[in-house]
Amino acid sequence: MQQLIEGHKRFLAQVFPAKRDQFHLLAEGQQPDCLFLTCADSRIVPDLILQTQPGEMFICRNAGNVIPRAGEPAGGVSATIEYGVEVLRVRHLIVCGHSDCGVIRALLAPDSLSGLPSVRDWLQHVEPAWEYVDEVERHSGELTLHTALAHANVLAQLDNLRTHGFIQRAVAEGRLALLGWYYDILTGRIEQYDEEQRRFVALPG
Ligand SMILES: [Zn+2]
Repeated sequence: MQQLIEGHKRFLAQVFPAKRDQFHLLAEGQQPDCLFLTCADSRIVPDLILQTQPGEMFICRNAGNVIPRAGEPAGGVSATIEYGVEVLRVRHLIVCGHSDCGVIRALLAPDSLSGLPSVRDWLQHVEPAWEYVDEVERHSGELTLHTALAHANVLAQLDNLRTHGFIQRAVAEGRLALLGWYYDILTGRIEQYDEEQRRFVALPG
């Protein structure tokens, strides 16, 4: 806790004064271009790995970067996305999974969730990821299977996203692009799902 308080003191003394004008502008409102939906994992720091500034990304996080399907209990996720798309009018919505994800580990070992009823319930939103994993991947080693499932979960959550009417409308009107990303903690690299190649490839450029 002390580390957080000391950090805030440094922010007030060093960072805030240097960006005072920027924060004054931000105090009047936000116009983020991107809604970034990722896992709650402490090792994913969006503004660090994308070098973004305050006000640039509307961020929604939960265990396993989950998006419940339309009509399902949403736990605030659908409301956050709806606000981002319909009110803030973000132009890009990125669903970003990652390596060594605890939710994917739980999917591979559901018995480990005894005594965690809320996590077990939440996992039902991730189970459809199995449908996006092929036979070869299902019978591969643990690391390959984990990566395949983390990739698959991004695709499953994007499909969940597309069940929402406001998403369908925004995409049809050409004002919203949906993107699937995967962040590798070990290398720091991001991959993006390529619709034509039907696989994750290094970020363009
Ligand atoms: Zn995770």
